[in-house]
Amino acid sequence: MSLKAVTYCEQYKRANVHTSGCNFKCKGCSYKLNEHGPRTKTLSLEQVKSALRSLEVKRVHFVGGEPTLCRDLGHIAKFCHEELHVRTKIGHSTGWNRPPNNIDEMNISIKAYSEKTHKEYTGASNKRVLTNFRKIYVQGISLSASTVFIPTLIDLEEMENIARFISEVDPLIPFHITGYIPVPGTPWRSPNPDEIARAEQIAKQYLEEVTASCYQSADDYNRKVKEDPRYQSVRVA
Ligand code: SF4
Repeated sequence: MSLKAVTYCEQYKRANVHTSGCNFKCKGCSYKLNEHGPRTKTLSLEQVKSALRSLEVKRVHFVGGEPTLCRDLGHIAKFCHEELHVRTKIGHSTGWNRPPNNIDEMNISIKAYSEKTHKEYTGASNKRVLTNFRKIYVQGISLSASTVFIPTLIDLEEMENIARFISEVDPLIPFHITGYIPVPGTPWRSPNPDEIARAEQIAKQYLEEVTASCYQSADDYNRKVKEDPRYQSVRVA
């Protein structure tokens, strides 16, 4: 699994290191909707370090695919701590692997609480994910979680079970619910605003910090992302 690009958000002084490849095969993977532009070539470790050195950064985020599959992740995280003195975060992870040293924060996307549904949707069991979630928390990494709400598949009952599971680890772990954006060839629709609000309400029975977002299509998502300063970034390598 390789390094594909470095992008930079000047407003937040955040660099994003993009990696390729994932070990899950989610039927509704959002990358099928929008192959992110910068991921067209492979970068060397030195190219990534040189790009990071040239920027004024406060944080470095690793995004995939699944960033823990990239063999250079630990090396770059160490470089970020020891040379750049900045915080590091794995922005999106399946939780299949535990992170290397020098990762400060991690967001784990819990695809489903039911093992059967998880296997059906991702092709993999969630036992290792749920075990790792607990272990990563105990390790002292600042953890957040997210789940994609997919009506009729990963629905309100799943939201409740996932929120309960997270609360048993720590009710202060932030949890984000994302509404499913239909991927061509899949049978599921987007949740409507009432369903998302209900999911949020259910999760809030267990967790202190619950947020949600919902887009009706890839175009809707892309338009809102363009307007949101948190996502404004330019490719630097
Ligand atoms: S874990 Fe994320 S990147 Fe991997 S297949 Fe699932 S949605 Fe796609």
